[in-house]
Amino acid sequence: MDERARFSRRETLAKLGGLLAGAAAAGGLKAADSFGAVEDDAASSGPAGVASGAVTCVLAPEQTEGPYYLDDAKVRRNITEGKAGVPLVLKLTVVDASSCKAIKGALVDVWHCDAGGVYSGVQSTADDRFLRGVQRTDVKGVALFRTIYPGWYPGRTVHIHVMVHIGGNVVHTGQLYFPDAVTDAAYRRSPYNRRPSRDPRNAGDSIYSNGGKRSTLKLVKSGSGYVSSIAMGVVRS
Ligand code: FE
Repeated sequence: MDERARFSRRETLAKLGGLLAGAAAAGGLKAADSFGAVEDDAASSGPAGVASGAVTCVLAPEQTEGPYYLDDAKVRRNITEGKAGVPLVLKLTVVDASSCKAIKGALVDVWHCDAGGVYSGVQSTADDRFLRGVQRTDVKGVALFRTIYPGWYPGRTVHIHVMVHIGGNVVHTGQLYFPDAVTDAAYRRSPYNRRPSRDPRNAGDSIYSNGGKRSTLKLVKSGSGYVSSIAMGVVRS
């Protein structure tokens, strides 16, 4: 399916607001699993991170949400649901692109395909929601997710879809990318190595070529997987 064929910015997402309220009421927001390996480093995120240069304050490039977005993702940190793959922590910082200040309380919505290139709910059983989730940014503007390294599907380089909501408005729709060399290393492992010769790589992807370099995650090895991070500059609307 062609992700370029469909580009829509949702103005509001009342349903998500409802879901969040429900999860908060049920204690879902407090049920976050522990991230022993990902101690928040004050100097690398939020305002201090901007000041230290660790967080770059630039407007995150808008990119198509593609055909696989579902607006009923659960508020949860661990979106893995037992899916096999190289462990990946996503540390996504939301900053105001004009003031460079961290934005607390933004809803960050992520979704990506599994190691076999399949999106839950759309290409699998309708009720599946694996590898989809929503987190609210903390005081440093950080939303953390625990997931697996995405697989790939024909026509696209490896990517994670992201949407940022503030006050019921979508303020950013983008895609996050991976350095090819890191993906090569991850894909030498199981189960990715059952599907060799991914195509295209970053340079051959026409969506990546429109700002992908600025939305490429920084990856650091951690245990058997990676911790990835990026700051997304958004304009409050
Ligand atoms: Fe996609």
